[in-house]
Amino acid sequence: MNAAPDGILLVDRAGGIVMANAAMQTISGYSADELCGQSVSIFLPPDLREAHARHLAGYFHGPSRRPMGMGRDLWIMRKDGSSLPVDIALGHTDERGGTAVAFVRDISEVRRLEARMHYQATHDTLTGLINRWQFGQRLEQAIAESARSGQSFALLLLDLDDFKAVNDGYGHAAGDQVLLEVARRLKSVLRAGDALARLGGDEFTVLLPQIAHAQDAEQAATKLLDALCRPYQMHGFELDLGASLGIALYPGDAQDAATLMRYADMAMYHAKESGRAHFACYAPPMGIRMAEKLQLHERLKMALAYGGLALHYQPQVDVATGHMQGVEALLRWTDPQLGEVPPDRFVPVAEATGLILALGAWVIDTACHQIALWTDAGMPLRVAVNLSAQQLRQTDLVEHIERSLALRGARPDLLEIEVTESEAMADPEQARRVLCSLQALGVCIALDDFGTGHSSLAYLKQLPISRIKIDREFVRPMLRTSADATLVQAIVVLAQTLGLRVVAEGVESADQLRLLADFGCNAYQGWLFSRAVAPGHVAQLLQASQAPQGVPAGQGPALLGVSTVPV
Ligand code: C2E
Ligand code: CA
Ligand code: CA
Repeated sequence: MNAAPDGILLVDRAGGIVMANAAMQTISGYSADELCGQSVSIFLPPDLREAHARHLAGYFHGPSRRPMGMGRDLWIMRKDGSSLPVDIALGHTDERGGTAVAFVRDISEVRRLEARMHYQATHDTLTGLINRWQFGQRLEQAIAESARSGQSFALLLLDLDDFKAVNDGYGHAAGDQVLLEVARRLKSVLRAGDALARLGGDEFTVLLPQIAHAQDAEQAATKLLDALCRPYQMHGFELDLGASLGIALYPGDAQDAATLMRYADMAMYHAKESGRAHFACYAPPMGIRMAEKLQLHERLKMALAYGGLALHYQPQVDVATGHMQGVEALLRWTDPQLGEVPPDRFVPVAEATGLILALGAWVIDTACHQIALWTDAGMPLRVAVNLSAQQLRQTDLVEHIERSLALRGARPDLLEIEVTESEAMADPEQARRVLCSLQALGVCIALDDFGTGHSSLAYLKQLPISRIKIDREFVRPMLRTSADATLVQAIVVLAQTLGLRVVAEGVESADQLRLLADFGCNAYQGWLFSRAVAPGHVAQLLQASQAPQGVPAGQGPALLGVSTVPV
């Protein structure tokens, strides 16, 4: 008996311990002497002893066998007062007027394992936060509680901006570090009753119980985003990261878990479109807009794979000579079902879904191809390409552009990259690095939509920019008031003191052009000269602009009948 791995106890009718083997001594912490003659109730907390004695009497009345593994939670109290999870098998002999035999097995290891497995099934291993499944349980619980109490609560869904770039650029270990830090920062802002979970990847979710007003949730969202936007100190370098956050309210927006999650997700996408580090509350029209966007996204993916995209080119014309000096490539998409979709509609969708990277790569490659074709035809033209913010943050952008240039045999100095002021300002240091690498390739840089961002002069001077494009919103009202005209003039003067060339966008009338000439603006772009045209029409426009007799601005394309070219 002393060799048996399980504890063995012999108990008489009165509940007295007759014998305890060695394993039983280890399990209980008592010696054999301490146990023999004692009541078995010694293994129970005092408040359970009486009930157990009755139970035991009943047992001897009609003894039955009880095997191990009946799955009941059984505990014994050890000598030191601690309790130990055990499993107990019971048998019975008629010796000495009836003796019960108990086999007692220590199952603390099994329980520990079960607890570990439960933890792993309900928690995220990296951050230790609860996982999607467990959060689902909490959400159901919150719904049940709030339905009873009439309280509302908020569901927040949070997604890091461009986390992929961290993983790609710095490795997965760095990515993990960032996620850990994100979890830590989120926890530090939240209160004890709030639930925080990692849904997977770079997606987190928060449940804020007992929210009286939407403003309370918005306040929490602001705090969370603020905490996340502080720079991240990684081994030797600093990283800027934002997050986008969507909010859905119970019961105002929806009353079931799945719909709440979906609405928070829609709000989050909406926030992503407004730029980095934004939050948005769910609003009913988002549902409709979301469906449209999903459709656009799907169709756009098809176009990228099977055709339907094209670049059209809008001339940039020298104000003084009327000569065309370059073109801007503008993306055109014709879908068999949706017809022509303007870039203002599909570019934001592509940005929100990440498709913009593939789309941008296609644009760069196609533009490089066109540069090579025109150069081969004896018409070396500078082609400007629009770059979206995400492309600018892409770690292999420079490499990719270099490859496209080489593969297509395009002259780097004929490629110009247009970045908007706000894109360049989002992460100034990173933007500067990328733009300097591009400049080193021989590629030119233009600052697009100038005047709409908030760049500081000192910063602009540090960027390797060769051209500034005055946004068409400034050019349009130029003839209306002198204040509007003065603003354009000021931008021209400013650019020139920085040694930059200036292109005015959206020039539609000869009067606007005259005024721009007075201000000393270098070049213009606009419907006055030509809309964006298919590549086959560019040669005609170029020849017309360079005709020796000089075609007056605004009449060149009309004389050639090109202004009626479908765009
Ligand atoms: P943007 O870069 O400011 O492009 C100039 C826009 O002004 C073009 O609109 C052009 O057609 C329009 N425009 C040109 N002349 C005039 C004019 O005289 N009057 C008026 N009212 N408008 C004029 P579009 O082609 O619809 O493009 C809109 C925006 O879509 C672009 O603004 C750009 O931000 C984006 N986009 C277009 N192509 C691409 C692309 O390949 N990649 C990326 N990332 N964005 C693109
Ligand atoms: Ca542009
Ligand atoms: Ca522009």
